[in-house]
This record gives sequence, structure tokens and C-alpha cells, in this order.
Amino acid sequence: STCASNNTFDQGQLIDYGNVELSPAAGVLNYGQGLFEGTKAVRGEDGRILLFRPDQNAIRMQIGAERMCMQSPSVKQFVDAVKQTAIANKRWIPPPGKGSLYIRPLLIGTGPILGLSPAHEYTFLVYASPVGNYFKEGTASLNLYVNNDFHRTTRGGAGGVKSITNYAPVLKPLLRAKEQGFSDVVFLDSVHKKYIEEVSSCNIFLVKGDVISTPSTVGTILEGITRKSIIDIAHDLGYKVEERLVTVDELMEADEVFTTGTAVTVANVGSITYNGQRVEYKTSDCGLVSQKLFKRLVGIQSGKIEDKYNWVVA
Ligand code: PMP
Repeated sequence: STCASNNTFDQGQLIDYGNVELSPAAGVLNYGQGLFEGTKAVRGEDGRILLFRPDQNAIRMQIGAERMCMQSPSVKQFVDAVKQTAIANKRWIPPPGKGSLYIRPLLIGTGPILGLSPAHEYTFLVYASPVGNYFKEGTASLNLYVNNDFHRTTRGGAGGVKSITNYAPVLKPLLRAKEQGFSDVVFLDSVHKKYIEEVSSCNIFLVKGDVISTPSTVGTILEGITRKSIIDIAHDLGYKVEERLVTVDELMEADEVFTTGTAVTVANVGSITYNGQRVEYKTSDCGLVSQKLFKRLVGIQSGKIEDKYNWVVA
């Protein structure tokens, strides 16, 4: 069952970047009816503008809209808008290998609503900004802090979708960790406080022997599109991949840990600190599983490696 009808969105138009006007009673401002997505466009060696699996972002937004009682654009409307935005901002897309155009689709309840109920009107918009490579060379070594006091979301909440309401609660633990010199936070499940969930804007994987494990998606972590792609690539490279409950102790005992996301692609983890204990992973860069996965993923995204999955859209 769904509590909002889909597809009342009109054709849409390209306009110059600027402010949006909202009613003070807009659903997004009062009850947090907002979803976002993140994807990027890169310039391929042959000059073509390449997008990575934008249909998956569209589908994730639709699933989120159903959870948040919002109307959502069709997959075609979503992908067309992303393509048009990329093409309109073509001159901002860095040369091959030098960065990308980060594209931010946003769906918000714009209709005024005073009593607690879904807005009657929604706006879908897409904006973009050029970004450099997240890390200069290949993957970086993140120093992660496992947080015990704050949780990102909880079972039955909206952790599985890209709701704007999931992000403000992350700011405090993230800033605290950064003040102490860490790169980011690993969140634990809120019931047992021992299963790892994800990092503030990435998914997390560990390697032990030739098995790669990552937390299963049980509604509390975001199903990253990079996560899903890395699982497929890892399978094809011959690794065994397990999606299951993963304890923080396993994380501490892993051979290798890495995170995945649109912005970071695949980022190697150098250390984890939990309960006053710090483990360092050997990060000499040859032979690392994350390095292999990183090269394969970025190769496909940039058009350098044959895309047998049909993930890349020109
Ligand atoms: N988890 C969270 C909380 C995120 O915000 C993101 C970024 N979208 C991810 C994971 C990674 O998802 P993706 O690979 O689709 O970028």
C-alpha cells in the first residue's frame, strides 16, 4: 500500500541556480518530508559525459517516497532530469581522472500542511556542483571511530532510505570524532550495540581471508549503489561475499576494512578505534582487496574498463 499517488510531476525546466521559495508551512520544513540522492557525471576519455546507474538512484528515491508518504517522479523523469542537468553543466565537468560533477536530486514536500499529514504538493529538483577526486591517489586511509552513544537510525525508522531526517542526528557524533582527529564515525545498531551498521555517508566492508563481509540491509542502513556494485564486482573477481550481521569485534579482527559510496568510491580504512582500543590495518598498497575493487569500479565508471554490467549511461 502506498499513501501518495505517483507521478503528478510536469515536464520541468532548466533554470539558473538560485534560491527556492517555500511556504513556511511546507511539508519539508515542518515534518521533514525530504529525500535526496547523490550521483556523479564524469568525462570519459572519448569526451562523452558518463553517468553511473542513475536508474538505481531513481528507484531508491521512489522507495523512500513510499516510506515518507511523498509523491515521486518516474524513473524516466528522474533520469532525464539528471541527464539534462549534467549536459547543461558540461563545461564544469573536470577532464578525465580529475574529478566529477556531483549531482544532487532533491524531492521535497512543498505543499503547506499544518496538521500532521502528508503535503499535497511536491517539488523535484536537481542541482550540481563540480568536485575534485575525494582522495588524491587511489584510496586513502581513513581513521574511523566506533561510536557507542549515538545511533544513526533504528529498526522501523527511515534508515534504509535517503531521508534528509537521517543526517542532522549524525552531525554531533561526526563533529566530535573529527575534533579528536578521526576521519569519520562507524555507527552500531541501537538494540544490541554490537553490530556495525555504516559510516556517516558510506557503507562498510571487511575482509577476512578471502571472504568479504558487509552488514545486511535490514532497514537501518542505506543500500548504497556503490555497495551493491562492489558486491557484484567482488563476486566476479572470485571473492566470497557475505551480507549478514557483522559484529564490531569482527571488524577489529579483520585483515582489511574499506568503505564505499558515491563520493569516496572505495576508501581504505587505516585504523579503527573502539572502547579505547585502536587497531591498525596493514595498508601497504599492493594486494589490498580494496585497491583492486577501487580500480575495477573507477575503471568502469570512467569508461576505461569494459562495462559488462551496463551500468554506465552516456
Ligand atoms: N550510507 C549513507 C548514510 C549515505 O548517505 C551514502 C551516500 N549516498 C551511502 C551509504 C553510500 O551510498 P551510495 O553508494 O549510493 O552513494
